[in-house]
Amino acid sequence: MTDSSVADVDANALLDEANSTSENQGEPKFTLELNQDQKDIREWVHGFAEGVVRPAAEEWDEREETPWPVIQEAAKIGLYSFEAVGQFWADETGLTLPIANEELFWGDAGIGMAIMGTTLAVAAIFGQGTPEQMGEWIPQCFGTPDDVKLGAFCASEPDAGSDVSGIRTSAKYDEAKDEWVLNGQKAWATNGGIANVHVIIASVDRELGSRGHAAFIIPPGTPGCEQGAKVKKHGLRASHTADVHLDDCRVPGSCLLGGKEKLDERLARVREGKKAKSQAAMQTFEASRPTVGAQALGIARAAYEYALEYAKEREQFGKKIVENQAIAFDLANMKLEIDAARLLVWRAAWMGRNGHKFENAEGSMSKLKAGEVAVWVTERAIQILGGNGYTREFPVERMHRDSKIYTIFEGTSEIQRLVISRAISGFHIK
Ligand SMILES: Cc1cc2nc3c(=O)[nH]c(=O)nc-3n(C[C@H](O)[C@H](O)[C@H](O)COP(=O)(O)OP(=O)(O)OC[C@H]3O[C@@H](n4cnc5c(N)ncnc54)[C@H](O)[C@@H]3O)c2cc1C
Repeated sequence: MTDSSVADVDANALLDEANSTSENQGEPKFTLELNQDQKDIREWVHGFAEGVVRPAAEEWDEREETPWPVIQEAAKIGLYSFEAVGQFWADETGLTLPIANEELFWGDAGIGMAIMGTTLAVAAIFGQGTPEQMGEWIPQCFGTPDDVKLGAFCASEPDAGSDVSGIRTSAKYDEAKDEWVLNGQKAWATNGGIANVHVIIASVDRELGSRGHAAFIIPPGTPGCEQGAKVKKHGLRASHTADVHLDDCRVPGSCLLGGKEKLDERLARVREGKKAKSQAAMQTFEASRPTVGAQALGIARAAYEYALEYAKEREQFGKKIVENQAIAFDLANMKLEIDAARLLVWRAAWMGRNGHKFENAEGSMSKLKAGEVAVWVTERAIQILGGNGYTREFPVERMHRDSKIYTIFEGTSEIQRLVISRAISGFHIK
């Protein structure tokens, strides 16, 4: 027996012992191998992305309209539904949600966002609502396969993007009628104005900054809630983005997510100078960051795969362009970066699902890395396709346009770095 095989035996014995110890304690052993449910869901979403989403991508990008028929197809197979999102979320490893998002956005990001945009509103209701509010409003965000509906989550305003403490939309309580009255303007809302259910982040006490925020449901057809200008965009053009105006918009007291008692308690704590739980908008963003990172990964992977196949086909100077180290190394780095980003996304998703605090802003890390990888990889894909890459005859230019938003929304790259640097240093970096 050589020294190295002795070492192997010892290592194996140690591994067996470690595994049996963790099994004895009822803890799952560490594995990155997907279970059958995860593989089945990945295949299911991939099939839809490949068969329905991809063929429609170019058309809806050019039309710059919400692809209602595709959303309806997704609803018909059960992918656009609370049940599906609930099933993805129920996975204890936390991986199913990012896996499903990566596959769908691999198909096309604009259509992907048209389908998944609703989940931001759902996440807010799920994260902050009472069980009754979840039961009442989440199904209304989706509608039915015959009559699909959308949800919108509206935090940003013209003067409050990265700095949510600047939110001016106000919510005043009319005690006599037990109603909240909302006034203000929301900006860049995905599905804004065309959604059935809008979740609005409003200030109930401006002096408290973001700690004085609360989240409100605006039920379908509520007077005073209107779509403003629809935004024409660089990418994600199949996803509707618009301003939302709230003009003396009255909603029942029961539309305050979490209820008034809880809000009053929280505000009292803040006014006494005690620590309050994180703010309404931030709670939603924290939970959704790994999922948003997974969407960016889907775009990056699609562009990488396209560029790889192209490089293996295209010939210049009498050989395949992939035979040039410059191209092959770019492709190697693209794959490397995508896989590295996926590990960060999966880690954050697992932590979030299992209640581990993001001590080092792991949620931000995952979204930051995946977003920047998507922009870089799609740009490289254009380069590898050369002139073709720059044209609308080939999909990588659309993927590049779609990727850019991932360094901007749900916290810009600069804001993610701010969050990470504060978390690791303990200093209030500005
Ligand atoms: C397609 C699209 C969809 C969107 N969907 C939604 C939605 O559904 N709901 C919603 O609420 N919002 C949505 N948004 C808004 C999005 O979240 C904001 O655009 C984003 O948070 C950035 O805010 P801002 O545009 O005001 O940029 P700003 O905050 O003005 O930032 C401008 C630049 O300054 C930098 N910067 C700002 N502060 C700092 C700082 N302290 N340190 C260093 N750099 C800083 C930023 O990183 C950025 O580069 C969407 C936007 C788009 C374009």
